[in-house]
Amino acid sequence: MMAVLLDSSPRFQLGFFPSTPRPPLTLMNNSQSSRFETRAIHAGQPHEPVTGAVMPPVFMTSTYAQDAPGEPVGDYEYSRSGNPTRAALESNLASLESGARGLAFASGLAASHTLMALLEPGDHVVTGNDLYGGTYRIFRKVFERYGIKFTFVNTGDTSEVAAAMTDHTRYVYAETPSNPLLHLSDIAACAEIAHKGNALMVVDNTFATPYLQRPIELGADIVLHSLTKYLGGHSDVVAGALITRTEEVAEELAFHQNASGGVLGPMDSFLVLRGIKTLAVRMDRHCANALAVAKHLEASDHVERVHYPGLESHPQFDLCRRQMSAPGGMVSFELKGGVPAGVAFATSTKIFTLAESLGGVESLVETPPSMTHASIPSEVRQAAGLMDGLVRLSVGIEHEADLLTDVELALGAAAAV
Ligand SMILES: *Cc1c(COP(=O)(O)O)cnc(C)c1O
Repeated sequence: MMAVLLDSSPRFQLGFFPSTPRPPLTLMNNSQSSRFETRAIHAGQPHEPVTGAVMPPVFMTSTYAQDAPGEPVGDYEYSRSGNPTRAALESNLASLESGARGLAFASGLAASHTLMALLEPGDHVVTGNDLYGGTYRIFRKVFERYGIKFTFVNTGDTSEVAAAMTDHTRYVYAETPSNPLLHLSDIAACAEIAHKGNALMVVDNTFATPYLQRPIELGADIVLHSLTKYLGGHSDVVAGALITRTEEVAEELAFHQNASGGVLGPMDSFLVLRGIKTLAVRMDRHCANALAVAKHLEASDHVERVHYPGLESHPQFDLCRRQMSAPGGMVSFELKGGVPAGVAFATSTKIFTLAESLGGVESLVETPPSMTHASIPSEVRQAAGLMDGLVRLSVGIEHEADLLTDVELALGAAAAV
């Protein structure tokens, strides 16, 4: 064992991901020569050269030996600046999103923080009025204090996006599908408006995942993820990412990633890499189950309205078919009995667990106004159509029949209040 550890052969000295320039470009990274499902499993992860390990090792190290001052033995100096396990994930994400480069962060909001760090006082952002609550909070409560201005519009209506543009607009930021109302924004059309105004198009692709929608291929410049959700996929890790169309934007973001330091640790990077390997098969089941649940809800007498872009009743059903390969695993709905019915539903399920978050293999239920979206004032929520009785489901990959039975049981409880 020591012989291996002390091996000073050139192969070992190259480090785990031999490469220049950084981050390491490895097997199939950006060649896009193989299909999505294959790249999900292999991109950024050649087998480890010293032992042949098939899974990327978890490089639990803060620092790296140097041959001479300023001359590291391999490609790494310090793990805030770079770590091989994180580099494998970043490389994998770049491949899946058809981007130049990926950057991994300690959470989705740490990624948002670094995204916003590129802006200066007086800069302006056009964004959606139906956003994840934490995104709304970091925009209003953190970055407005630094002199950045936000205009919240329905980004599903491109004329509203165009009308909100100013000479100072730096980002058009859309979450599509949006959380929790499942509104869609036309990424190609929004990117055109952004580019006409010399702004960058940013898409939060958390709900869709790159398996169902690839914003960079549609014209976006930066993709944001909460990897905590579908990419991690098992409700066991909090993580985030930014993926860029160009190396130039990546350079700027990487400077801030290193300067402010909200990086993803090696163990968490490993967990996300492991999750991504099964993304394609999980998403197929999430989508099939969600469609079945959405149809079941829509057929119920107790349900007022269902939001799911895979239903023909969804106002952007056609856009969904154009922009996404399937409608995803998230469904939200309003019951006829309003808030009390919603609470009864959310507390009556046996398989759907009442909890925040989404995108894991297990089904979850929540009521956004009192949980994930409580950081948005109620009058702002209601103006955007987010009613207090809304119930949101993250439909998992359990057996469809069991999920439908559970929904039926909870609908009965909701009808009884
Ligand atoms: C959860 C979520 C975020 C924030 O990510 P964290 O990993 O919780 O910091 C951002 N956008 C969307 C759409 C989310 O669902």
